[in-house]
Amino acid sequence: MEKRPFITKEEAETIISKYPTPFHIYDEDGIRKNCEAVKEAFSWNKGYREYFAVKALPNPFVLEIMKDYGFGLDCASEAELELARVSGFSGEEIMFSSNDTPYHEFSIANELGAIINIDDFTQLDIVERELSGFPETVCCRFNPGGTYEVSNSIMDNPGDSKYGMTMEQIIEAYKILHSKGVKYLGLHAFLVSNTVTNDYYPALARTLFELAVKLKEEEGISLSFVNLSGGVGIPYKPDQEPNDIRKIGEGVRKAFEEVLVPAGLSDVKIFTEMGRFMTGPYGALVTRVINKKHIYKEYIGVDATACNLMRPAMYGAYHHITVLGKEDEPCTEKYDVTGSLCENNDKFAIDRMLPKIEDGDILYIHDTGAHGYSMGYNYNGRLRSAEILLHPDRSFSLIRRAETLKDYFATFDCFSELKL
Ligand SMILES: *Cc1c(COP(=O)(O)O)cnc(C)c1O
Repeated sequence: MEKRPFITKEEAETIISKYPTPFHIYDEDGIRKNCEAVKEAFSWNKGYREYFAVKALPNPFVLEIMKDYGFGLDCASEAELELARVSGFSGEEIMFSSNDTPYHEFSIANELGAIINIDDFTQLDIVERELSGFPETVCCRFNPGGTYEVSNSIMDNPGDSKYGMTMEQIIEAYKILHSKGVKYLGLHAFLVSNTVTNDYYPALARTLFELAVKLKEEEGISLSFVNLSGGVGIPYKPDQEPNDIRKIGEGVRKAFEEVLVPAGLSDVKIFTEMGRFMTGPYGALVTRVINKKHIYKEYIGVDATACNLMRPAMYGAYHHITVLGKEDEPCTEKYDVTGSLCENNDKFAIDRMLPKIEDGDILYIHDTGAHGYSMGYNYNGRLRSAEILLHPDRSFSLIRRAETLKDYFATFDCFSELKL
């Protein structure tokens, strides 16, 4: 599918005159329409709830949009829990899905009334000790090991991944939790990341539902919810077919009716923790060309760096690039698009065919609405950018200002002699 920016060059120029490049911009209308589609796709399940994975786009303005649809939040750290709290979420609207968890964060989650998702068997004791007993509701994270085959995946080898408990461990965990009076038990698994197929959730659901049935038949323990977690992907590349959330919801319904209903488990609630699918396509990094360099290759230097968008440097991830105003020009030139970091992996694109670019052109880097700003860092003293929300009426608001040098130096306040 052709990838089109959600802003025009003229709109970008207007925004830039107020907030200089680089910045991430998010399309509120796109996020809202997608939220509606997600809600609709799972409306067949009475207890359905999406817990938006905060790490994808940790901004209170975006979290509040999620709240409008009755969604909760999936948090993995103290700061994310605090973001949930200040954004008005509490109790079972918060899922705490963490791993290698610092002990005190269990208490912080518990004070908010969050559902704690236990990643490791040895953490059972820690949770019990930290909270002086188990909460009413507890979730456990499953890792079936081996390989999990779904096309186009980054992570398709659960046997090599650090998350979750083995089958033996999780059954033992449920027996312990059940015997200690935990009322509501949940099952969670995240096996494959960024799946661009409508088959992942239905396949995962079937795996987890079968475990739920086994647990009921062999141990007499009935689960209250199954959390399908994240992993529903987006088409970063123009030739990829976008997922159809309606088909995905239907596929999960089919597995539900075939596996859970006959086993008398028709009250099981379905939860999801999508991040990338919820916001990824509705964000872009807007950056200006400041350096055209010709040596052994052609380089286009922009004013953003991997500090603003780490995915290409970290995973070699593809992000489509549009030169604003040149949307319909032929892609005749081959460029590497780079940032200024003293790291040769600071490239947004390598050998990318693009229209002829001039200094001052504005590049629109697609699909930065998830794991974009949030993966930012400060290497080379590069500062985090602003975040801007484009409203459905095409007006725009600053939802996070750009960092300043003052922010960069704020943590040196222990050196009283520094002239800050
Ligand atoms: C990252 C993460 C998610 C969200 O994953 P996406 O692929 O962005 O949907 C959900 N749950 C957990 C526990 C995660 O770590």
